[in-house]
Amino acid sequence: MDTAMTRQMYKDMGIDGKIFDLGEEIAFRLKDRFEEIDRTAEYNQLKVVGAMQKCRASEACLYPSSGYGYNDVGRDTLEEIYAAVFHTESALVRPQIACGTHALALALAGNLRPGDELLSPVGKPYDTLEEVIGIRPSRGSLAEYGVSYRQVELLPDGSFDYPAIRSAINEKTRLVEIQRSKGYLTRPTFSVQQIGELISFIRQIKPDVICMVDNCYGEFVETIEPSDVGADLVVGSLIKNPGGGLAPTGGYIAGKKEYVDNAAFRLTAPGLGREVGASLGVNQPFYQGLFLAPTVTAGALKGAVFAANLYEELGFSVVPDGRESRHDIIQAVTLGSPERVIAFCKGIQAAAPIDSYVDPEPWAMPGYDSDVIMAAGAFVSGSSIELSADGPIKPPYTVYFQGGLTWEHAKFGILMSLQKLYEKGLVTLPE
Ligand SMILES: *Cc1c(COP(=O)(O)O)cnc(C)c1O
Repeated sequence: MDTAMTRQMYKDMGIDGKIFDLGEEIAFRLKDRFEEIDRTAEYNQLKVVGAMQKCRASEACLYPSSGYGYNDVGRDTLEEIYAAVFHTESALVRPQIACGTHALALALAGNLRPGDELLSPVGKPYDTLEEVIGIRPSRGSLAEYGVSYRQVELLPDGSFDYPAIRSAINEKTRLVEIQRSKGYLTRPTFSVQQIGELISFIRQIKPDVICMVDNCYGEFVETIEPSDVGADLVVGSLIKNPGGGLAPTGGYIAGKKEYVDNAAFRLTAPGLGREVGASLGVNQPFYQGLFLAPTVTAGALKGAVFAANLYEELGFSVVPDGRESRHDIIQAVTLGSPERVIAFCKGIQAAAPIDSYVDPEPWAMPGYDSDVIMAAGAFVSGSSIELSADGPIKPPYTVYFQGGLTWEHAKFGILMSLQKLYEKGLVTLPE
């Protein structure tokens, strides 16, 4: 097929020829990067299929269960598969885990007892955890149950402050929470190797401390996971990377059996733990989503790298930059004006398969101190492995975007974001 046909197709879909050509040029330059991403996906694809084979996934595993969910073979086998993928003793993978925050809250509350202290050695954790921990006073927080909290800031260059971490660890420190992804902050995302170095350091000071990693947005970006470098627990959401876009809900906790079981006693009830909890009809999409997760993550990653290079070419500042190695799927683009943030998000929405005709507007949202514009046209509500963007309407006017179930769709969305900026005269295209 010749390029002219593709160019015409983009034109029919609302993308100007000049923008298509710029996109072609950027994508051409990224050939080697993309090949590297494909190699990682290939490795991880085999890792997942290998785990499914080793655990003898069968047709019966895909059937629904109901009621108490005793002997739910599909659920139990899937948990063995997650444990095999993450190289852990055990895993809890459930639709009853409502989201990533819930999974993190279970892992924390299940493993901390009154008088224990929780330490974040990587600065402020993800916003929603502030209420879980009680950094912001909140009903039912760990603070209300007598669990104290300490935080060590990162150094100005985003690296670990080892001396401060050493002095923060004390006889009460029971669990250390390390957030892999920058989330919606501007610090760097940590590589798995960096996380491993931090864990080794902490272990030298206090060998029996539980090292837990918030793995959200990081799964399958590299060939190893934090559990391969010493993490006792890795935790994440199934409507991000590991659900492969098909999981309709859910979260996972993988790690040492004792710690995963402790989280399970929190999820259901003391004494019941992982024995109950019907998987209803979600086994099939959980399995198939995990199967697709390595390539879906690769598509999202290509989209992020493409956007970084495209917007960098146009003179905007981007985090991570176009050449940096990647450890999660989030891309931040600083656009410098509210009009540009709005146009960008309208472009992402206009490229969506669902609700493409909806025109997003900035709005006051709970938990945010400014209006926020959000673009999401997803098959699974709120899914951020699907192409999505959020822009708080405040300086420096940065949009955070992530996802794309396929590279082709991510590319279309990013070109559409630029199209909207271009139509409004908010950007100058290179000659
Ligand atoms: C998404 C995310 C979470 C959890 O968010 P939910 O919206 O509750 O799923 C926690 N930490 C990080 C770094 C995240 O990206």
